[in-house]
Amino acid sequence: MSARVIIDSLEFALNGKELRGEVPIGMLDRLSGELFDRGGNLQYSLYGQTDQRQRPQLRLEVRGEVLLQCQRCLGSLPCPIELVTQLLLLDEKTSDVDAGVEDLDAIPVNAELDVWSLVEDEVLLAQQIAPRHMEGQCEAASKLKDDAASPFAALAGLKDKQLN
Ligand SMILES: [Zn+2]
Repeated sequence: MSARVIIDSLEFALNGKELRGEVPIGMLDRLSGELFDRGGNLQYSLYGQTDQRQRPQLRLEVRGEVLLQCQRCLGSLPCPIELVTQLLLLDEKTSDVDAGVEDLDAIPVNAELDVWSLVEDEVLLAQQIAPRHMEGQCEAASKLKDDAASPFAALAGLKDKQLN
């Protein structure tokens, strides 16, 4: 059974439709593979609209929290998600007109747009490449500091190893 939400993106935008819902994070395979914990939900709101030039757009808002994995101590790193993105829908008319010039995010028109997948794409785009705890909150930081404070101890250790 699939609980996925499919919309016709162009029709959705042109008719100014709105949609709200929740996505279980564990259902987003690409995202949850990167996470410390797959639990929880993301809330999303999707609005169809057209801009001043009558071009179809989707406005997507996503809120929630994901638990990333700190790349230094491998511990849990809570990361609040609060993103808002405007996506210009590209069809033959709008395709290469202005999207690049205006620095707008754009996606191709899709009569069967998977909303969960769109949410996942945007959260992944907003994600840090190598998430880490802030200084002072990372389990690994204190360990690193100890090592740095005693370079001679490290050297001595190295010597011992070479002798053995
Ligand atoms: Zn850490």
